[in-house]
Amino acid sequence: MIELSDRINAMEESATIAMSRKSRELKAEGKDVIALSLGEPDFHTPDFIKEAATQAMNDNFTYYTPVPGYLDLRQSISKKFKRDNNLDYSPDEIVVSTGAKQSIANVVLSLINEGDEVIIPAPYWVSYLAIVNVAEGKPVIVNAGIENDFKVSAKQLEDAITPKTKLIIFSTPCNPTGSVYSKEELADIAEVLKRHPNVVIIADEIYEHINFTSKHESLAQFSEIKNQVVTVNGVSKAWAMTGWRLGYIGASEKIAKACTKMQGQFTSGTSSISQKAAIAAMEADPAILKDMISAFEGRRKLVLNALNDIEGVKTNIPEGAFYVFPDVSYFYGKSFNGRTIQDGNDLAMYLLDEALVALVTGEAFGDRNCIRISYATSEEVLTKAMNRIREALEKLS
Ligand code: PMP
Ligand code: GLU
Repeated sequence: MIELSDRINAMEESATIAMSRKSRELKAEGKDVIALSLGEPDFHTPDFIKEAATQAMNDNFTYYTPVPGYLDLRQSISKKFKRDNNLDYSPDEIVVSTGAKQSIANVVLSLINEGDEVIIPAPYWVSYLAIVNVAEGKPVIVNAGIENDFKVSAKQLEDAITPKTKLIIFSTPCNPTGSVYSKEELADIAEVLKRHPNVVIIADEIYEHINFTSKHESLAQFSEIKNQVVTVNGVSKAWAMTGWRLGYIGASEKIAKACTKMQGQFTSGTSSISQKAAIAAMEADPAILKDMISAFEGRRKLVLNALNDIEGVKTNIPEGAFYVFPDVSYFYGKSFNGRTIQDGNDLAMYLLDEALVALVTGEAFGDRNCIRISYATSEEVLTKAMNRIREALEKLS
């Protein structure tokens, strides 16, 4: 009998992807399922980006690319870092990958030995934990509750650091909570890092442009710790380019070189066509994203209002990204039609069966009291989904 590795047997399917697969299957069976499970903008990639891709094909940019990405793309990313984030990363400090997901995997695999501790503030994005486990690192989860707007304090991080700590991974704006770290909060974290110069931190800033209340603040702006920070970003979210598969890092040259070496053995450089298209995105003025951001803001309001109308549901006010992460623990222990809800997994399955709405259990993000709703879809669909969710929750007693 063919045996799979312990590594793959221990790995769970990504919960976000599993839920969207389930909803696709139910749709194929003819069920009217509304999928609020996957974090994917419903907008089309802007035409000027598609035109750059067509031009790339016509110009025969169809060959293997340099492993860290074309130099002209890395130069555009370098300019983007300066323009949007006031960060100085030279093209040698930038590595382009097949999605920010691969960027994160490259960094973790390049830094982590078996047993090295990796601090992951919870709620976290599902894949952080899976990637650390593949690298045989030891995840150290630090919980940030809804009462703290799901943000960890610098003190919590410092208390979790031990001589074995190698890495911290967090996102701002955060998937799944929408929380955004302020400049002051990041400055406090920078102070802690300064005291622990062997610790690297991945700041996943892929939602930087989807921020409703403030200017995005990058952790790497604090110059004394910039070398310890790996800034992760990509084109999937702001530029509605999830299928193009392009993410990137800004990091010290040492880490950038390691990631290039890793990627050179796994995937090589990402698609030549996506890279040329990404240059158009990087060179564009982010001010053109205004309409998309205000559409997301309207949807956030709709979902928050609907949730706040349901007895027992608690929310923070997500300041960015396109998720709400309500605490639904009030419903645990309640039943309908002989079916008792024990936890968020049960509730997500109940809402899928009873309301035909797919969302993701909070447990996958490290908080069993919550569920994640992705509101990257039209207000019309969201209104229908939120009505169905309310009706299904009100049946539980
Ligand atoms: N980080 C976060 C926080 C995300 O939500 C996502 C979404 N998939 C990614 C990284 C990866 O994005 P991608 O691989 O599409 O660039
Ligand atoms: N990041 C998105 C999400 O959280 C896309 C799915 C994924 O890559 O896991 O839903």
